[in-house]
Amino acid sequence: MKKIAVASGKGGTGKTTFSVLLSKVLSKKYRVHLIDCDVEEPNCHLFLNFKEEFSEREDITVFTPEIDPEKCDYCGKCVEVCRFKALLLADKTFIKFDELCHSCKGCIFVCPKGAVKEGKRKVGEGFFSEIHKNLFLSFARMTVSQARPTPLISELKSKIDKKADFVIFDSPPGASCPVVEVLKDSDRVFLVTEPTPFGLYDLGIAFEIVKEMNKDVCLVINKSGENDFLIEDFAKKKKLEIVLKIPFSKEFAKKYSDGEIDTDFFPDFENKIFNLDYSH
Ligand code: SF4
Ligand code: SF4
Repeated sequence: MKKIAVASGKGGTGKTTFSVLLSKVLSKKYRVHLIDCDVEEPNCHLFLNFKEEFSEREDITVFTPEIDPEKCDYCGKCVEVCRFKALLLADKTFIKFDELCHSCKGCIFVCPKGAVKEGKRKVGEGFFSEIHKNLFLSFARMTVSQARPTPLISELKSKIDKKADFVIFDSPPGASCPVVEVLKDSDRVFLVTEPTPFGLYDLGIAFEIVKEMNKDVCLVINKSGENDFLIEDFAKKKKLEIVLKIPFSKEFAKKYSDGEIDTDFFPDFENKIFNLDYSH
């Protein structure tokens, strides 16, 4: 099994386009599990034949502390240990700030009275669907008001199709904790960028993270055109391979806006994908 992450320093560079294209092409020969890790705004399913009514659906929950007032002696140790300030004790009344809780269970471990019980808090919903016999899709929708996408990403990653030849993670945009959560278990990273000064700037940030994590990395240029030199110069300096260029095409953009990402649109695309070296 090979695990591939598709990432970019910012949103809107074409990560989903490439993730869906890669999944569709690879699934012509291999069993593929595409995991949309952008749990704040999942959209891979919009470009696949996803039917919510035929998918498996489950609540995603995280640990939340429940204090048993019968056992608690209000010593305050649970409040002291919580480095995220998610618990407050005021005159024998607990106030819990769920958005701040990182579910670390530190409060359970320090309580001398066994007064902290395991509660559950719903943070989102997960979906799993068979798109066709060789392509499977997972994604999650984060509950409104939930602040941390990482638990949902971990949950999606814990349910990888064990029989898949390729797992493709469509990473969230940006360069923070959720992206690191995705990249840490990947064998190879495709960084998708666009040939603009903004694209180049965000690519630089994303590349530093990937390099720090010691991952194999290569580049994809989306909206490729006359300004490709911006990315090509970067690639040359950093000794990175540009494995694909997706041309800036009005016709493709129109299909995209109609919810279609067509593998037949680019004649050589399929060969390029199959000829990439996935051995490292
Ligand atoms: S550590 Fe346990 S006993 Fe002490 S205040 Fe917290 S819940 Fe109560
Ligand atoms: S689980 Fe961790 S973060 Fe949440 S309240 Fe307990 S100590 Fe604080």
